Parts: sequence; C-alpha cells; structure tokens
Amino acid sequence: MVKAEDVKVREHVSEVPAFRLDNEQLAFRFTATLSDRSGQPVERLPDAGRLDDWLAANRLGLGGERAVGSDLVLARRLREAIHRAGSDVAAGSPARRADVTLINMLARESQSFPVLTEDGMRWQTEAGSQVQASLGLIARDAILALGGEQRDRVKACENSDCGGLYVDTSQARNRRWCSMNTCGNRAKKAKFRHGRTSAGN
Ligand SMILES: [Zn+2]
Repeated sequence: MVKAEDVKVREHVSEVPAFRLDNEQLAFRFTATLSDRSGQPVERLPDAGRLDDWLAANRLGLGGERAVGSDLVLARRLREAIHRAGSDVAAGSPARRADVTLINMLARESQSFPVLTEDGMRWQTEAGSQVQASLGLIARDAILALGGEQRDRVKACENSDCGGLYVDTSQARNRRWCSMNTCGNRAKKAKFRHGRTSAGN
C-alpha cells in the first residue's frame, strides 16, 4: 500500500515516467507531458507533485507553493488546448475558439514578472496562485509560438503515433520529427530493420 510519505518522493521511483525536456519551445515541451498520443499514450503528469517537478525542471517554479488537484486539472486542460491549437495551426487550419479562449485567459491572468538574480533569474508573482501564474507563462509562450512570426513553422511530428509539436527552425524547413532522440531515432532504426529484412528476403 502506498503511504502518504511515499507519494512525496515518487519522482525517485522508477515507474513514474520521466519528462521529455528536449523540445526547444516551452509550450510544446509542456504538451509532450502526454506522449505517444495516437499510440499508447504515456501520462507524464500523473499527479500534482509531478506538475511541481515539471515546473521546477523548466525553471517555472514560483516559490514555495505546491500544486493541488485543481491545478493539475487546469494544467492538463491548458496542455490539451495548446496541443489541439498547435495541431490545427500545423495543419493550416484556424485554432478552435474554446482553445484560444482558455489560452488567452490564462495568459492574461498571469501576473508574474522576471527577476534578475546574481546567478540567473526567477519568476515572481505579486498575488494569486503561483502555480496558475506558471501556467500563464506557458500560455504566453503558446501565444507567441502559435500567433507570432514562427506560426508557419509549427509542425506536427511525422511519427503518426506521436503527435508531438515543434517549431521547425531548420533553414531548409525540412525537419520531420519532434525530437531526434525519440521519434527520429525510432524512424532511423525502423528503416534500418526494414532494409535488413528486405535484403534478407
Ligand atoms: Zn515525435
């Protein structure tokens, strides 16, 4: 049986899925907390504690406040809104109104500002929920990615199981995978296997 004190240290337990942090765009790195969406989805934010961990790993922790269940629900809603809107943009379609509304609402409500420190920076919020302020920063990043200059470079991973989003910053605009470490590598291995099978037949 899982005891309350065990839950706090779950990040050290191997069955908790690790984060994928290699996406350059913050908002899309956030959508990658649900991976392999069209295959066998892996939920990488199984509880509020892991939301805290993700925010800290992405330097979005805003102090001592801990996420609660309602924060996790809101975080997942934002994540799915960003993913749907990003997939729509990647397909050349307009984003849906409900998704746009949620993203805009969270971005507007985020009263946080960056603070330069001796060894880097941190985010500070004047009032309200610190966790929601962090989600607001992710919403802002989504707006800049989906509505800004790089809008036409937003793409969906060519691995049909994945559905991951990324900004194709390559000069030739020919990037195909959300990440070379995961989908790019899988495709390379599959091609290699296929080549060997064909040669063997
Ligand atoms: Zn992918």
